Amino acid sequence: MGLFRRRRRLYLTPISPLVLLCGVVLIVMCSLFVNGNTNATQIPLTPINHHLYHTRGALLEEIEALVHRHPSKLSMETFSTQNKGYHAEMTVVTYCRNRKACDDKSKLRILLSFGQHGRELITTELALRILSILSEEEFLSSAYPLNLNNTLDRLVIKVIPMENVNGRKLVESGDLCERRNGRGVDLNRNWSVDWGKKEKDYDPYEENPGSGPFSEPETQIMRKLCASFEPHIWVNVHSGMEASITFALFMPYDHKDMTPDGLPSQRMRLILEKLNRFQLKDRCLVGSGGGSVGYLAHGTATDYMYDIARVPMSFTFEIYGDSTASSKDCFKMFNPIDITTFNRVLNDWSAAFFTLFSLGRVQMKELHPNATGSSFEKWVSIDDYLNGYLMERKSRYGKKMENLKEWPANCFCYVLVKVFFAALEI
Ligand SMILES: [Zn+2]
Repeated sequence: MGLFRRRRRLYLTPISPLVLLCGVVLIVMCSLFVNGNTNATQIPLTPINHHLYHTRGALLEEIEALVHRHPSKLSMETFSTQNKGYHAEMTVVTYCRNRKACDDKSKLRILLSFGQHGRELITTELALRILSILSEEEFLSSAYPLNLNNTLDRLVIKVIPMENVNGRKLVESGDLCERRNGRGVDLNRNWSVDWGKKEKDYDPYEENPGSGPFSEPETQIMRKLCASFEPHIWVNVHSGMEASITFALFMPYDHKDMTPDGLPSQRMRLILEKLNRFQLKDRCLVGSGGGSVGYLAHGTATDYMYDIARVPMSFTFEIYGDSTASSKDCFKMFNPIDITTFNRVLNDWSAAFFTLFSLGRVQMKELHPNATGSSFEKWVSIDDYLNGYLMERKSRYGKKMENLKEWPANCFCYVLVKVFFAALEI
């Protein structure tokens, strides 16, 4: 204490007050300059507009209430799983008009996922709008096919209104640019087709594919859902395209600069072109994701749905993007910020989805999922049975042992277990 006082006194020479004064003036001037300069160049970031957008909790509560008001049409399940202490939960809403005939295999089965990326709030609002229209509490604002009622009688739709709940939590807590899940993995790079391949412009922050295919609980839930439901149509709904593209209707592939060969591919393109022309005013880019956006994406959900799960109509829709927004201004880049645009996006795209249902229904007779009922069910059951084993294997040997994508491995294990149980019965 004594030493400190002495040293301070040593600095207080007669010129010190002048030096100190100059220092203070300099600091104040610098501060004013820096602040002024910052104000001149820094673009203010747009916050979430809570007048337009639901919070995560409010949106899921509203959907739950909607389901309870319409038990004859809607039902709801919640799936949860965890991996290495990371827990994920997912709400799935099923629409089926005649509940007694929901398992009727002749019905068109449609699987729709929204909010796979946390920052794309508008997609989850579209999920709510579509469910509200299906419940008949709201109605389509634009023209739709006359046979819509006939169509709705003949389909079953499963809607995942918010695939990435944990990522959405991060966004709502202030990380407006977060697209990944609650532990930093991009859920649209965590699937097994061409998993883990990195392009030259690979961005580890945006595109972290995880420690292996299906390493993430969210992807595991989605994969099981697809395997048990066997959809004819899959749509992965996103927003916020890069470059000057704002709307897009994509079909496979994302990991190749091409579309698949053959009739199913032609059928997909035809449906997308009709949607673009009749509902979206020809504003959308139509084609393969990999061939259209200027970069390839590996390990995506839509490529898996088409190539492995054999969903004959697998799509990715990009429903909105503001190419004028600063790359740091994520809420504005990925979501409409004014009520007019917000309503227009929801109106246009809900009409597009209902048109897709009708077009899909028309094509129904020609749709033949390669994974037919019985073989797919076997695969699901063996998948459930071996799930713990595969996870154990992966953690022990690392990603080299990850083999979930390979059908032969699953089939081989299935045969082994069948033989085992057959032997027990004997
Ligand atoms: Zn996205």
